[in-house]
Amino acid sequence: MEKYVYSFLEGGKEMKSVLGGKGANLAEMTKIGLPVPSGFTISTGACSRYFLDDQTISKEILDQINDGVTKLETLVGKQFDGTPPLLVSVRSGAPVSMPGMMDTILNLGLNDENVEVLGDIVSSRRFALDCYRRFIQMYANVVLELPMYHFEQILERSKSQANIENDKDLTEEQLAAIINQFKEQVLSLSGNPFEQSPKKQLYSAVEAVFRSWNNERAKIYRKINHIPDEIGTAVNVQMMVFGNMGDTSGTGVVFTRNPSTGVNEFYGEFLMNAQGEDVVAGIRTPLPIDQLKNIDSGVYEELLSTSRTLENHYKDMQDIEFTIENGKFYLLQTRNGKRSASAAVKLAIDFVAGKIISKEEAIAGMDLDQVDRLLHPEFDPDKISQAEEMGSGLPASPGAASGQVYFNSKAAEAASTNGQEVILVRIETSPEDIQGMISSNGVLTARGGMTSHAAVVARGMGKCCVTSCSDMDVDEEVGTVRIGQHQIKEGDFISLDGSSGKVYLGEIETKSVNLNEDFSELMRWADEISRMKVLANADNPGDAERARSFGAQGIGLCRTEHMFFEGKRVLDIREMIMAKTDEKRKIALEKLFPHQKEDFKGIFKVMEMLPVTIRLLDPPLHEFLPKGKEEMQDMATQLGVTYEEVVNVTAELEEVNPMMGLRGCRLGLIYPEIYEMQTRAIVIAALEVKNEEGFTPVPEIMIPLVGNEAELSGLRKRVEALISTIDTEGLLNIKIGTMIEVPRACMVADRIAAHADYFSFGTNDLTQMTLGYSRDDAGKFIRKYKELKVLEADPFQQIDTEGVGELIKIAIEKGKSTASNLKIGVCGEHGGESISVAFFNSLPIDYVSCSPYRVPKARLAAAQAELNRGS
Ligand code: PEP
Ligand code: MG
Repeated sequence: MEKYVYSFLEGGKEMKSVLGGKGANLAEMTKIGLPVPSGFTISTGACSRYFLDDQTISKEILDQINDGVTKLETLVGKQFDGTPPLLVSVRSGAPVSMPGMMDTILNLGLNDENVEVLGDIVSSRRFALDCYRRFIQMYANVVLELPMYHFEQILERSKSQANIENDKDLTEEQLAAIINQFKEQVLSLSGNPFEQSPKKQLYSAVEAVFRSWNNERAKIYRKINHIPDEIGTAVNVQMMVFGNMGDTSGTGVVFTRNPSTGVNEFYGEFLMNAQGEDVVAGIRTPLPIDQLKNIDSGVYEELLSTSRTLENHYKDMQDIEFTIENGKFYLLQTRNGKRSASAAVKLAIDFVAGKIISKEEAIAGMDLDQVDRLLHPEFDPDKISQAEEMGSGLPASPGAASGQVYFNSKAAEAASTNGQEVILVRIETSPEDIQGMISSNGVLTARGGMTSHAAVVARGMGKCCVTSCSDMDVDEEVGTVRIGQHQIKEGDFISLDGSSGKVYLGEIETKSVNLNEDFSELMRWADEISRMKVLANADNPGDAERARSFGAQGIGLCRTEHMFFEGKRVLDIREMIMAKTDEKRKIALEKLFPHQKEDFKGIFKVMEMLPVTIRLLDPPLHEFLPKGKEEMQDMATQLGVTYEEVVNVTAELEEVNPMMGLRGCRLGLIYPEIYEMQTRAIVIAALEVKNEEGFTPVPEIMIPLVGNEAELSGLRKRVEALISTIDTEGLLNIKIGTMIEVPRACMVADRIAAHADYFSFGTNDLTQMTLGYSRDDAGKFIRKYKELKVLEADPFQQIDTEGVGELIKIAIEKGKSTASNLKIGVCGEHGGESISVAFFNSLPIDYVSCSPYRVPKARLAAAQAELNRGS
């Protein structure tokens, strides 16, 4: 018989897939002797069974739940159907953290009878009634799926009739009347009286939590975080402890370190006389955790020491939920805390320095997407000093964002789809706002603390967020917000600084982040671990500089055609295209020569003695010709030819399928002067840099789109012949290699390798030609293909291991059978994508090359791939 229910005394942190993250941690904390209220976990397997069994809980599972309840009753000395009454919380807990995405029910077990017993036991009927009132409301919403506003209306009406503002000022009598109205509402909306049996309440609550696995917000969250739909959620049933029993009770959330900066400081918030979600919901603004010292120093010390124990035990920064019940401290939950990208780096460095984890563990634990976020912009300090500050709030999630204001998720999403930059402004966010948050550059809320929904979710997404903005009035319905002196309406620009919490008027220019020494150190560790090198695709000195600053160990692809488009150079290449004789073509190419040479010199100077792989011209020539009539006319005038001549040449060069037309090495063979000019520019540039700078650059020449050994052998001969005409003082030993980007090249790689010093897989073209999907048009159907589950991922982003990957394997094997030392690289877009990088690392590939901004992530991915190899 499969086990579906585990008491907290039975599990441990290694059982995440069975017990969910929360359940595994509750069991682990119980195991290490921390004060966790007792309970049990219903496994993720039970959730899967629930869906397999047409959304019913099987008898086998019900029996195990009943057994779990009986054991819990014995352990804590309370009873569902007896005295003292057992009250439990019922919470979801998936194997991967999905904060706020699924549902929770508190105070379950209360009914008309035992609410009075509870009142007697705690000597406060008011307290017991308040618990019951909250329970009915939550149960009605989560389990019975009745709209919340019916109940809120009753509550609001009762308060206004009694002329009070705060829930806590409701009297016993008023609460009793509200409970009656709630129950009547349940009966009229659902057709059934409010459930009085605690066991039946529990079964329905468990079912509701299972169901919430498939609610819209959970599904969206899983999609953006790549969490599989099949894993399901566990359900944790835990004895209630009360933070709302009076002034010696409270509840809070703490992080063992600052999750925004990573600084080693105790960080969090609490509220006295509050329950459960009050802190996270952002309805009352909580107090900073330091102030707990003054209220209950004993509990504060216990919290502090428990935090240290947990951090050392889990070897990571922890996000802890606790409750104080009548001065007694309880730990409700711990999990690895979500952190900003810069905090993630600092934590990794500090944990290694503190010998809590090894360098390898630090690298393995880095979230690759976060590294990307580190490269996001900040406000330009010069611009910010001139900007008008309208107000400020809590710096909930770092980064900078400018955009147009929208007041709800739908409008934000629509504006973003229209190409606008969006800032979502809300009184406070709730899980329903998730799509709007995804669509926005930043989030601003009037309420909520550092652990409010907006703060936690934005930080997880790496979006800038300011919460609890003082002096701000939002009218979401009308679509206006007053911030300080300013009245802002929908569509107006504002700017947020999530690191300082400041809110500015208008749009402010941003600038790239300066990566700090911690980041460089972490990247050095990654490089020490990696087997593959990471190079960059860069076509000009600026990109080369950026690539080096991000740690690229060379240039794996310099697309020379990009140099031809700059400024007036396109005219020279047009002249070359229009030339009727070889002689004229050479004259036109001579005009391009100095530009190419200077560009190469610039790149060599930046890259010093690192390899610079220069690909000779690849695109078809008509890409350099104008399309419209007017532009053709201009070109004719500029070159002193007739309009008809331009039209004729354009028509001659036009291709039905240019991706498979006269391009790459075909172009090199048919117009040899182009590759000759480029080769000469490379060699002379290298020699001049050698003379000017005193170091010898390392250019490598790469021939594109080879599919036939004769293409490469022919071009290699020409390139070598040209180099031999230049006196290189024996200094330059230029490698000549080829791109492997045509399926045929993979199949005859042994013969091609006889003429190549290296192979570089052009996985963009190789994917195009292997799958038969046009690089330019596939976007139209790939999304649909993913929805239909024909494709799991876009093969232009993530390498298709079964097709393209197999061809790569064949090519490497064949290539190495001819030349065992053949250097192998990848320079298609896949070189910067982590799953593809892991695949490449499993093969004898020496390097990947990707765009400069992707270099840091690729370095980490390469190190992680090496750590995971064989595991
Ligand atoms: C490739 O095809 O993968 C490649 C790097 O070349 P390009 O993208 O320039 O065709
Ligand atoms: Mg290509």
